Amino acid sequence: MINTFKLFAATILLVCSLSGFAQTSDPHSFANFDQVNVSHIDLNLNVDFNKKQLTGSATLSLKWLDKTTNSLVLDTRDLTIKSINSGGKTLAYKLHKADPNLGSALVIDIANGTDKVTIAYSTSPNASGLQWLSPEQTTEKKHPFLFSQAQAIHARSFIPLQDSPTVRVTYAATITTPKELVAVMSANNDASAPRNGIYHFKMPQAIPSYLIAIAVGDLQFQAIGKDTGVYAEPSVLASAVNEFSDTQAMLDITEKMYGAYPWERYDLLILPSSFPFGGMENPRLSFITPTVIAGDKSLVSLIAHELAHSWSGNTVTNSSWRDLWLNEGFTTYLTYRIMEVIYGTSRFDMEALLGYQDLQADLAVLKKDDQRLTIDLTGRDPDDVFSNIPYEKGALFIREIEQQVGRANFDEFLMAYFEHFKFQSIDTETFLAYIQKHLITPYHLDLDRIKQWIYTPGLPKNHPIPKSDAFTIVDQNRMSWLNGNVKATQLDVKEWTVHQWLHFLNNLPDQLSAAQLVELDSAFKLTQSTNNEIAHSWLVLVVKNDYQPAFERLETYLISIGRNKLVKPLYRELAKTSKGKKFGKRVFNIAKPGYHPLTVKANEGFFN
Ligand SMILES: [Zn+2]
Repeated sequence: MINTFKLFAATILLVCSLSGFAQTSDPHSFANFDQVNVSHIDLNLNVDFNKKQLTGSATLSLKWLDKTTNSLVLDTRDLTIKSINSGGKTLAYKLHKADPNLGSALVIDIANGTDKVTIAYSTSPNASGLQWLSPEQTTEKKHPFLFSQAQAIHARSFIPLQDSPTVRVTYAATITTPKELVAVMSANNDASAPRNGIYHFKMPQAIPSYLIAIAVGDLQFQAIGKDTGVYAEPSVLASAVNEFSDTQAMLDITEKMYGAYPWERYDLLILPSSFPFGGMENPRLSFITPTVIAGDKSLVSLIAHELAHSWSGNTVTNSSWRDLWLNEGFTTYLTYRIMEVIYGTSRFDMEALLGYQDLQADLAVLKKDDQRLTIDLTGRDPDDVFSNIPYEKGALFIREIEQQVGRANFDEFLMAYFEHFKFQSIDTETFLAYIQKHLITPYHLDLDRIKQWIYTPGLPKNHPIPKSDAFTIVDQNRMSWLNGNVKATQLDVKEWTVHQWLHFLNNLPDQLSAAQLVELDSAFKLTQSTNNEIAHSWLVLVVKNDYQPAFERLETYLISIGRNKLVKPLYRELAKTSKGKKFGKRVFNIAKPGYHPLTVKANEGFFN
């Protein structure tokens, strides 16, 4: 794969240099953004649920950086290009052969200095960035639903553009939908717009392409606070508004700590359960999985996370996917801080320790090269970068710096950092140069250790380890039960939070006896748990121990949920035995039509 890509990249480089192009800094984009920059996109798209297609045009505004270039190279994937025009003139173009990871380069012959180009196109029903749901796959089961997921490089499957986080664009869109449905975007949504099938949007702040987002469905809106609200299918709306009622408070305190919120509104869009991720930080409108609506706000750190991206990620952005930790490490660190202010130190301690345990689990299985904060992704699918390394290792590194310079000083630094790089895309080395002046020199930090955190695998010696008193109590209870000193029914679990339950389950031994499993299940009704995270942790044990009474629940769980974090560990465990593999393959095939392409891709390998 690596060799194939390098060959391909070399060919492109050759083609490009022959026609006067140069290769750019982002290995996941063909676009010649060093020579000509797309600064604004006007979209005019019709949403056709029967054909599972977006059809229409994208008009790109161009800024020429190079006076000699007469080509515009764009990223596309599975697009059908109908025509390309500028100022009433048809332009010649070539759509190159597709690379499996990157899609097809679209090379347009265009006179240097041309200010606008219009591309008429349609998407493929299998566009990697779009999921088309039939009515049966929605909560209401009455209307179809469409949603996009552009990160990391899937925007090119629904818009021809320069699909690199280095390039920032403003956009405007006119979206035509069936009359009974509502369209929303990562833009200025107007909840009071008439439901007439034509929707207009503007995103006036320049954003990277992976933050362009659209959803269409039978959506209703309800406000949470003055700048916050929820879009959801009618039957989900009330429970979502209750669950996420602290969103306005989260926004207010984050502004106080890290500077003014630069995106005007912050709304949530609750998607059907096939959404492959927990959340996606699309600006002004985070996309959220319904699997975190637990009824007790136990899983709302997800909202704090997506909100925190409004500063780290959406405002200050990684310039390529190698530097994802600049987005996710800072966001994970901010998430813990927001959660601490709203829900207290005990919850902060528990969530940080659970995150540390997730990190340890990943370190145990990831290749050494993938344990660096800056992962070399040349020749790889950038979706490979998503593990707990950029998130939890990144956050732990930042936490160590916070401890060294003091929290008040560090908060002051962060506010200045977000302001300094506002609406810019940066790499790790730019970050290092900045902290040299603002942290390393003034606070006498150890540069070698900082480089060790960033560029070497694993964790440096004596790194911070989160501690939680609430979990110590859980550890004692687990131990007494495992030693046979007490029965499960005698454990003192009345006051346990969801986090304590997760800690209890996640740290049980891999192998339990049938009698122990029956005892736990009958004492705590784990198979019936309606908390998706608790059910997940229990079902992992169920698979590891082939606990048959819970396999019916396992099947329903895998079919009803498409969030990859919740299903992948179960399929991975199932695939370890031939009996499990047979069950897993059967269920995967039933569930597959309802899964997002990314969830299918992440799991199909277990059953080939
Ligand atoms: Zn994130």
